[in-house]
Amino acid sequence: AIDPQFNENREQVDEHEGHAVWGPVDEPEELGIHGTHVAVDFDLCIADGACLEDCPVDVFEWVDTPGHPESEEKADPANEAQCIDCMLCVDVCPVDAIDVDAG
Ligand code: SF4
Repeated sequence: AIDPQFNENREQVDEHEGHAVWGPVDEPEELGIHGTHVAVDFDLCIADGACLEDCPVDVFEWVDTPGHPESEEKADPANEAQCIDCMLCVDVCPVDAIDVDAG
């Protein structure tokens, strides 16, 4: 499962479409965690798609990640600022790749 303390245990190494990327990153095999308020561990994401279908405010968008061992696309928290903290995505993710900081 995603480390809920990722922002203390990892370094922000990049920014992607306006959100943080937390390392380590070694593309294409290792992609890190995308987002901060809504954080998706790209190295766990299997592109199940439940979060995209269930999020009531369309926070997630697919991004292509060719060559990643778990899946060739990822659910990117592209619109994390729109999140209303409903926690549906956290509940439906089959691999617990998502952390929402509702604190
Ligand atoms: Fe969307 Fe709810 Fe997840 Fe926020 S907590 S990203 S609103 S499904």
